[in-house]
Amino acid sequence: MKFGTTAVHGGQEPDSATGAIMTPIYQTSTFVQSEPTVHKGYDYSRAGNPTRSALEANLAALEGGKHCAAFSSGMGAIDAVIKLLKSGDHVVAGNDLYGGTYRIFDKVFKQFGVACSFIDMSRKENLKKAMKKHTKMIWIETPTNPLLGIVDIEAVTAMAKAAGALSVVDNTFATPFLQKPLSLGADIVVHSATKYIGGHSDVILGAAITNDDELAERLHFIQKSSGAVPGPFDCFLALRGTKTLHLRMERHCENARLVADFLAAHPKVRHVNYPGFKFHPNHHIAEKQMKGFGGMVSFTLKDESIDAAKRLTTCTRLFTLAESLGGVESLIEHPASMTHSSLPREVRLKSGLEDSLIRLSVGVEDADDLIEDLRQALERI
Ligand SMILES: *Cc1c(COP(=O)(O)O)cnc(C)c1O
Repeated sequence: MKFGTTAVHGGQEPDSATGAIMTPIYQTSTFVQSEPTVHKGYDYSRAGNPTRSALEANLAALEGGKHCAAFSSGMGAIDAVIKLLKSGDHVVAGNDLYGGTYRIFDKVFKQFGVACSFIDMSRKENLKKAMKKHTKMIWIETPTNPLLGIVDIEAVTAMAKAAGALSVVDNTFATPFLQKPLSLGADIVVHSATKYIGGHSDVILGAAITNDDELAERLHFIQKSSGAVPGPFDCFLALRGTKTLHLRMERHCENARLVADFLAAHPKVRHVNYPGFKFHPNHHIAEKQMKGFGGMVSFTLKDESIDAAKRLTTCTRLFTLAESLGGVESLIEHPASMTHSSLPREVRLKSGLEDSLIRLSVGVEDADDLIEDLRQALERI
């Protein structure tokens, strides 16, 4: 089955009780048992719920995985995956990770004895140097946020395997439509389904997907033990989102390419980060492992002041000033003062994240209107 067909049908069956074509929202906490432990597959909704099962089956199919566990947020999924480790284990992760992932390693798991080294993972030699005897997990994000760096998934997961460490790929930015990390050697894929998978900026949800039976069993055990499970209505919204994922991603990619081209030619723009450009340092890897270059674009202004960048974010009319990404509507944000403000300025500048950097989540509106909006905004700064 090809992707679009899987998006619509993967893991989906009409409701066995009523024939409803869309999985109903099973808004129930518990399930009737005819005798103790005799039930129809579900006993309590933290352990399992039919609406959640339908979403999990669909997400597993989309990633080409056997198993999926859904969580109440992307961070809930990430938290569960890190709980596969134990005190004394070491993790190597990218240095321009999603801020929440950086925070959970640095502020939450560190106090339980799980240490994490943050490195520029777009260079493989850095990884070799950072690996320790007790390194048990390699955490990959690609494309990275907000600089759109590209990590070679196949190369890094092979290094993890050789060292006996689990490899995890946060596939939120690419989605399985553009990139399938499990087929490139990853042990686990995590998602913030809040972004492209849900796709309509109306739900917070996460997922972890794997082909490994034992890892899946442990993840489901953590899911039910820690309890960060999504509600049935949220599962329904995410499932409604996946059915058009392929259509939306095509348009996101098409629009982002046109917006990136426009910005690159604009006299007030200094540099555009977009993995689809030939001059992107890892363009060849993006081309190898992705089916398209995604809907995210970031850029710096020739006016390097923080004020010019902030002003620009208030001059757009269609691009709305907000955090998050991956919805149908286009968003603009200023990482230095918003999503990445928790990084000390020196650390931020050192990882290439400049004061004038602007991040766009390019939506699925008409590209001409989006470009016109950026044109008038750039004129006004
Ligand atoms: C948003 C995001 C997360 C966290 O997901 P939530 O659903 O907000 O908890 C994790 N990773 C990436 C790459 C994200 O963009």
